[in-house]
Amino acid sequence: MLVALLENGTQFSLLSVNKTRDELLRDRKKHQFFCPVCKSQLCLKIGTMKKPYFAHYPDSDCQVHGEPETDQHLRGKEDLYLWTIRNGRKAELEYYLKTLKQRADIFLHGIEPIAIEYQCSDIPEDVHLRRTCGYCHSGILPIWIFGSNRIRFRKDRLILSAFETSSIRRAPPSVQKSHSLFSSSYYICFYDPHRKLFIFFSNIHSCTKTSFISQEIDLPLDQVHPYQLFYPDFQSPINNLIERWVQQKKKQRLNVYRKVSNEEDWLRRQAYQWHFTFSMYPAFCGIPHEQYIHFKNPPYLWQTWICYILEKARGHWITIPQIIQVTVRKGGQALFTMRRLPLVSESRIDLILAVYLEQLVALHLVAKKQQAYSYIGESIRYMTSLDHLLKQDRLYIQKLDK
Ligand SMILES: [Zn+2]
Repeated sequence: MLVALLENGTQFSLLSVNKTRDELLRDRKKHQFFCPVCKSQLCLKIGTMKKPYFAHYPDSDCQVHGEPETDQHLRGKEDLYLWTIRNGRKAELEYYLKTLKQRADIFLHGIEPIAIEYQCSDIPEDVHLRRTCGYCHSGILPIWIFGSNRIRFRKDRLILSAFETSSIRRAPPSVQKSHSLFSSSYYICFYDPHRKLFIFFSNIHSCTKTSFISQEIDLPLDQVHPYQLFYPDFQSPINNLIERWVQQKKKQRLNVYRKVSNEEDWLRRQAYQWHFTFSMYPAFCGIPHEQYIHFKNPPYLWQTWICYILEKARGHWITIPQIIQVTVRKGGQALFTMRRLPLVSESRIDLILAVYLEQLVALHLVAKKQQAYSYIGESIRYMTSLDHLLKQDRLYIQKLDK
C-alpha cells in the first residue's frame, strides 16, 4: 500500500515525488500509521529492493487483501496515478469503495467514474469476475492493466490466462479500424513501469483456447491519454498477420502429434465415424474474424465441424438453428462454448455462426436462400494433398482480406 492514515486521521502517501528516503526514515520514528480501511496499525517498510510501502502485520484480518506488493506493482501504481493527475483527472490512489468492499488501485472521479486495477500477480478467475462485476453494477468503468511481467509468448503467440482474457475490451464502433480481415476492435493493455511504456495488444485472434496472434503496439506513458484506455484511437497497423496466421495453420496441420483439447478429440472421433480425414480439414476452415474471440475454441475446430454438417447435408438447405440442433444431438455443443468477456457486450452462438456462413457465401462455397444455407463447393471428403491445402489456406485468407 502507498497510502496510510496518521494518528490524527490525515492521509500520508508514499509517492516518491513527496519524500526522500531519509525523510521517510525520520517519519517512521515520529509517527504511527494506520490502514484507511480496517484502521489497524501498519508497518512502513523501507528496504533497498523495493520502493517503500505500507504492509499489514501478519495477524491482520483486513478485508482488503490486495495482491502481494511487488516493486513493479508499487511503481506501476504510482506511475499510473501521477499520469492521470498530469492529464488533469481528479484521481485517488487506493480508493476504498465502502459499499463494494473493494479498493481500486486508482479511482477517477467524473460523470462516468473509472476504477483502474494494475494487476501484476495471478488472481483466480472468479475473484476477477466478482470485482469486475462489482464495479460495473455500481456504474463504475473497470479498466484492468496488467504488469508487463505477465506478458508471455509461445513461439510468436501471446499467451493469456483466463482472468486476462476476461479483461479484454472492445473499442467503441466510432474508433476507426481498417477493413482487413484481421482488423479487430478487441484489445488488452499492459504497463511496464521500468520503461514507462504501455503495451497494447490489439487485433487479437485465437489460435487455441489460451494462445493468440495479435498486434503489439508500444506507446510511451506520456504519449497516451487516460481516455485512450477505453477509447484506443491511436493507429494500430496490421503487420504481417496474414503471414503469421497462415504459418501457424501450417504448423497445426503438420504437427499431428500435438496435445489436443477434449473438443478436438471429440471432433476427430466424429470425423472418423463420418469418414472425413480430420488432419485434411478444408482450407476454408480456420478463417479469422473479430467476432470469433467470443468462442473459447479456435476457428479451425468449430468451422471444420460446420463444414462436416454442410457436406453431410449437401443438396439440402440447412438453417443455423438446425446446425446447432445437430451439434447438440451429436454431443458436440462444447465446440460452441462462449468465452467469458464481461467487459464486452455479449454475442450469441447463432450470430457468430452467421458471420462464418456469410464468409463461405462470399467465397462462393455456400449458397443462401432466405435463412438457409447449402454447400456447393467441391467435396471435402477426399482432399488428400497437403501441399494443395497449404496453398489454399493462404488463398482463401487473401480472397477475404480484400
Ligand atoms: Zn486494513
